[in-house]
Amino acid sequence: MNRNKILLHTCCAPCLVYVNEKLNEMNVDFDSYFYNPNIHPKKEHERRLLTLRSYTSRFNIPLIEDDEFLQYLWENGFQCKDCYNIRLEKTARYAKNNGYKGFSTTLLVSIYQNHQLIIDIAESVADKYGIEFFYHDFREGYRIGQNKAKEYGLYRQKYCGCINSYNSSKYKDKIKWD
Ligand code: SF4
Repeated sequence: MNRNKILLHTCCAPCLVYVNEKLNEMNVDFDSYFYNPNIHPKKEHERRLLTLRSYTSRFNIPLIEDDEFLQYLWENGFQCKDCYNIRLEKTARYAKNNGYKGFSTTLLVSIYQNHQLIIDIAESVADKYGIEFFYHDFREGYRIGQNKAKEYGLYRQKYCGCINSYNSSKYKDKIKWD
């Protein structure tokens, strides 16, 4: 049933907007897969998930929630490479175990992420689980996606997700969790 689809790790709704449009244009069918234990605090984690539920429901995108909140990650010197790895490894494993033809990630749309590191880690977990990593440089549409997310009224976060990125955000004083 899933063999003609890819499993798309989805970090948040705003990043999904352009990727969704591009995959549709490329005739690539996908399920959205939410696994982002990096997001801190729990309130922010919930907010991003609720926004994704709302967006996927509006555009009839199947959403798989396979998440957990792992605050301990941030007490152990977690870095971006670990953050990419934990999310992409679980995505690749889930895709393999559930018969998808491949996997990808919305992290590839961001102009702020370490694009090459994401590719390297995705290729490594693809090899490990024997499944295809679907690559496209979605960064071409980063601004388009963000502008549409704004038009749609989606919640757009002001930091990447972890406690370190929150602490270093220039918008830190404007971030409200209540
Ligand atoms: S900055 Fe972003 S990618 Fe890096 S560890 Fe924090 S949440 Fe993960």
